[in-house]
This record gives sequence, structure tokens and C-alpha cells, in this order.
Amino acid sequence: MEAERRPAPGSPSEGLFADGHLILWTLCSVLLPVFITFWCSLQRSRRLLHRRDIFRKSKHGWRDTDLFSQPTYCCVCAQHILQGAFCDCCGLRVDEGCLKKADRRFQCKEIMLKNDTKVLDAMPHHWIRGNVPLCSYCMVCKQQCGCQPKLCDYRCIWCQKTVHDECMKNSLKNEKCDFGEFKNLIIPPSYLTSINQMRKDKKTDYEVLASKLGKQWTPLIILANSRSGTNMGEGLLGEFRILLNPVQVFDVTKTPPIKALQLCTLLPYYSARVLVCGGDGTVGWVLDAVDDMKIKGQEKYIPQVAVLPLGTGNDLSNTLGWGTGYAGEIPVAQVLRNVMEADGIKLDRWKVQVTNKGYYNLRKPKEFTMNNYFSVGPDALMALNFHAHREKAPSLFSSRILNKAVYLFYGTKDCLVQECKDLNKKVELELDGERVALPSLEGIIVLNIGYWGGGCRLWEGMGDETYPLARHDDGLLEVVGVYGSFHCAQIQVKLANPFRIGQAHTVRFRAA
Ligand SMILES: [Zn+2]
Ligand SMILES: [Zn+2]
Ligand SMILES: [Zn+2]
Ligand SMILES: [Zn+2]
Repeated sequence: MEAERRPAPGSPSEGLFADGHLILWTLCSVLLPVFITFWCSLQRSRRLLHRRDIFRKSKHGWRDTDLFSQPTYCCVCAQHILQGAFCDCCGLRVDEGCLKKADRRFQCKEIMLKNDTKVLDAMPHHWIRGNVPLCSYCMVCKQQCGCQPKLCDYRCIWCQKTVHDECMKNSLKNEKCDFGEFKNLIIPPSYLTSINQMRKDKKTDYEVLASKLGKQWTPLIILANSRSGTNMGEGLLGEFRILLNPVQVFDVTKTPPIKALQLCTLLPYYSARVLVCGGDGTVGWVLDAVDDMKIKGQEKYIPQVAVLPLGTGNDLSNTLGWGTGYAGEIPVAQVLRNVMEADGIKLDRWKVQVTNKGYYNLRKPKEFTMNNYFSVGPDALMALNFHAHREKAPSLFSSRILNKAVYLFYGTKDCLVQECKDLNKKVELELDGERVALPSLEGIIVLNIGYWGGGCRLWEGMGDETYPLARHDDGLLEVVGVYGSFHCAQIQVKLANPFRIGQAHTVRFRAA
């Protein structure tokens, strides 16, 4: 057969045959990698689907990671692992292969005890083995824990206490958990079970229950915006779930503040605190939800509000003493300690009404709340432009530095455009009902708080003149004029003073 097929040497078909060979090999060498890549990606997506399925059905809050931030050992097979999944409620870590086993074998944090458990105020520790935090100390022998390169030592997922394998005794396994350092912030699972029982019996006197937890008990509700501050909120949510009861930690993009704050109505009067993790916008959103509670007649349940600022230029948070932006400088546990130590202060909040001019004005005036400041003139224009662009291309604005740069860009661009020239001829200003004569201005800014435009003390200016003291809880607004965006920029770097128009209880602008 073969001999017959082989053409005579030198015939033209020999070249054809060689060509066919070449084409075949070329095809092979091209197709094979394509096939392998295709097959691999198919396998990967199947694995991903399988994992998603486990994640969805699981009681744990599993999350994928490509690289664990500290040396990690799988809680099932005890192997050293670099990537895999972790639970952002209880902190279990596992490799992909053992995920299903881990999910079946280990219980996550129970946010509520089962109704049949009678031990309402005695919950034992819930120990999980391995991956204890670096620099933690054994509660028995007080020596450092988790320093051996293997799956070893235990951590209680409620009180965060750690103990050596050797120091773990049966007595410890049955010991009552006291919820550790943050017991005054944690809503214990037994509390919610009791509340549930009381609701069935139609009782609402939660004070008796709370008295068991002590006067110091000020449960903390976390409202974090997972989209704030380059998606830092996402990680924070997990860290708070580990330290507190996951039931008291909310992502406001999934559960709006109005809904989340209803948890306060299950707590004793005047006891709840809220920690808002997000920008000034998120804080405003939560404060509006608090207003809503007042309207519903839930005054007694209104929480005190603390802030963990994310992102840039958070003037409200800065005024209240929580800084302009958090980027992980201090551990989350320290944030909780700060909240525990914080004292309450009051903040004025203002109603802004916008009415259309005209003889036959049938439209209802628009009303909104102001916490920080508002302005008429270049500053408003700048913020508006910035916002419009952010809506169009959010990915561009995910970095803090870029945000600042774009703000700067708008600031300088406005220098050239000067769109609000002779504002004094376009608007009339009344402070507490009295008309104020204005010089040639380009912008008027009405301030409730001390900081403006991302950390500038606008009312103070250079601080070389005497001026009436401004406070955020005195029932007065400060009204300031600026000559242009260049003047704004000068005030920002403390090279100029603003034109202080005055302080007032009511401020009215009217288009001239
Ligand atoms: Zn494993
Ligand atoms: Zn878990
Ligand atoms: Zn414990
Ligand atoms: Zn020990």
C-alpha cells in the first residue's frame, strides 16, 4: 500500500506531500494550545460554578482569595495554602478541594441560638482551630500563640480569646464565653432568641433582658457602604462580622439604612450606637434615616452616630472629630475601642427649601436636608461638574489621588471660565430677614460645619483676624463670600481670608 502511494522521486507530487505535512504540523501546533487553553478555562469555570453553588447554600460567609495575607493552613487537611476561601464571619480558612468538607464539618457563628436551648445566658466558647491572629496570647499560659508553622492552637470566634493546643482542657471547652473585649458592643445570640420569645408572648419590655447585660451595654450597629473608598467598605464589613455578631453588620448598598436601623427597635431605649463606614454622603443618608425614625415616633430608639470616614474630603466626619478619611491606618479593633470611648456631641441640621419664582406657582417647594454646606457660585459648579463626570465613568474615580487631581483640574478650569461673574447682581441675600449689601462676588457659601471643600477652615481663613466663633451646634449658619475660584484656592492654602458676610438663623437667597 505504502509503496504504491509513494510517488516517484523527483515528481511534483512529493512537494505537495511535504506541504501537506507542513500544514498538518502547523495546524497541530496552533490548535493544540488553543484546545488546551479552552479545556482549562472550561474546567475553571466549572469549578467556579461548583464553588459558587457551595457559597450560595452555605451558612458561612465564604469569600475567594488569590493570596492569603498571612501564613495560612487549611482547616480540614492542615496543609499550608496560599489561595482558597475564607469565611468572613467566623474566619475559617480552607483550600478549594476541602471547601465542601469544611462547609459540612464546621458551624459558623450562630447569630441567634436555637429556640430549644434553655441556656440563655450561658453560651460556651465556640473554638475553631488554627490560623490564630499573629501576636495573640494564650489565655491560659499567657505565652504567644500560633507561632508554629502548622495548623495549631484555638480561637473563640465570639470573644477572640486564643489558647494553645497543649493548654486546651475540657473545662475550657465548656467554659462560658464572656464575649471578650467588645462584649459591650456585641448583641449576644441569646438576647435575640429571648426577644423572639418575648415577641411571641406579645411583651416588649426589653429593659429587663438588657439589665442582665449591664448598664455599660451599648450595642453597636455597623452600616458600611461597600462602594465607598476604593471598595474598602467590603473588607471592613468582613472584619466587623468577625469581631461582632454578623446580624449587627449591614452593607447599606444591600440593606438601606432605614431598614437596618429597625434593629434598634429591638434594643433597650437610648442604648444603641451606629458606626457609619462611608463618605459624608453615606452619613447624610443614615442621618436622614434617623429623621425617619423620629417621624415614625421611634425617638426612644434613636441611636448615637459615630463615623469611620472612607474616601476623600469628608468634612462632616472631620468636624465631628473622626478624621477626613480612613485607609486602614489603625486596626479595626482600635476603631471599635475609639467608638466605645467617644462622647456624644450635637449637630445642627438644616432644612433647605427651593421655591420656584413666578406668579402662578403651583409646584410644591423642593425640600432637602443640609448637614455640611451649600453654595451658590463656582464651588457649586465645580462639585457639579465633578459629580457629572463621576457618574459617567466611575472606574476613573476609584482612586483617592485621582479624585483630588480631578478636583484640582476643575478648580483651575473654572479660573479661566468665570461663569458666575457678578453674582451680587444676580441674587439678593437676606440674613434673619434683613437684606445684606454685597460687594462684587462670584460665590456665596453657607456653612454649618467648620470644614469645607475637603479640609479647608473657610470661616477662619488665615486666622489673623478676629471673627465670631463658629460652631456646628449653635443654631447658626455662617455665610461667606468668595471673589472667585482663585480666591477659593488661596483660602484653601491659608493665603487669603474669606469675605465673612455674617451668621444667621435663617438665610434666604432670592434671584434678582
Ligand atoms: Zn485542605
Ligand atoms: Zn463561618
Ligand atoms: Zn469565647
Ligand atoms: Zn498556652
